[in-house]
Amino acid sequence: MKIRLELQDLAHYPFLKEAQEVITARGYSLRSITTNPENRVYLDAAVDRIRDAAQSKKGRVWTDSDDPFLDILSYGLARILVSCIRNRSGIATLARYEAERAFFFLQTIEKNDALRRHIFRELDMPLLGSSMSYTRYIEITQTLREDTFRLVNRDLSEGQVFLSEEEKDLLLRERIRTLLLDQLPLDLPESVCDTLSAHIRVVQSIIAERTVEEYGDIEESRFPPCIHALFEAAVTGKYLTHSGRFALTTFLHTIGMDVTEIISTFSQGSDFNIEVTSYQVNHIISQGSDGYTTPSCATMMTHGICSGKNAKCKLVSHPLSYYRKEKKANKKPVKTNIPDQKNEGKEEI
Ligand code: SF4
Repeated sequence: MKIRLELQDLAHYPFLKEAQEVITARGYSLRSITTNPENRVYLDAAVDRIRDAAQSKKGRVWTDSDDPFLDILSYGLARILVSCIRNRSGIATLARYEAERAFFFLQTIEKNDALRRHIFRELDMPLLGSSMSYTRYIEITQTLREDTFRLVNRDLSEGQVFLSEEEKDLLLRERIRTLLLDQLPLDLPESVCDTLSAHIRVVQSIIAERTVEEYGDIEESRFPPCIHALFEAAVTGKYLTHSGRFALTTFLHTIGMDVTEIISTFSQGSDFNIEVTSYQVNHIISQGSDGYTTPSCATMMTHGICSGKNAKCKLVSHPLSYYRKEKKANKKPVKTNIPDQKNEGKEEI
């Protein structure tokens, strides 16, 4: 059944295909946006969206903007900008933000049941009243950590899992987040990113600042034992298994080390080849699935690279949590050379 969607609906849920149709119907394309100076406002709005995502805190509240079309277009352009920087933290930040934003509107203002059903259908979340097939349920909840979503804790009848209204929205939120993680980065020609270079520089500084806020300056002395061992092996030219290289690369990238530094970390190895290492590092840090994030402690153990485990390890399930906790417990003032984003954005765009 065809459903009538208002522009404001699409501003709330800009991932719907109808949002793309509106953009096309109004004659906007990436080319028209990048070549017409009057359309710069849309790119500025996309940068603001990413900035908002990077600064968003729990309990964030959204209000309707005066220009729903701007909201719709800025969603698409924000996806393009974070794709150009090919940074997993940036992509994860935007994915989380978009999922939270849609969840907020569903929870607080959505009265249109037909629209609600349409969103679930569009995101391939078939519901039978208040239940979902257990196979689809398992797929959608595999990235959720809460015990309440574990299948053993659910009411299951004839292959269907029962869900409350809020739980349905929570699953939808997770579905949006993982869908974006799967879709991004978009495969864009280099020429597209070149055209957007001024805006991309601002986005890079936004994401870099967020990383500094989250992890502070890089401090090797706060690395968890496993990463410390891998790092020491790398800088002294010792052999690292593929999973060791992968874990070290994703860890260093997440805490804000730039690509050149990561590559040089591996430069003492006897088999070091700058082109091969550069390709491998770039491949690892720019991939668009959840599989390309730093492995959890359980996975590190499975691969035999959880080494030097200490008492603090008992309190964490992820090497990044270990590092964050250590940094927090030994907090130092953060040094940053990143200029004020708002001013930088005004000068550069
Ligand atoms: S328990 Fe986790 S943080 Fe500690 S050494 Fe093992 S993998 Fe690293």
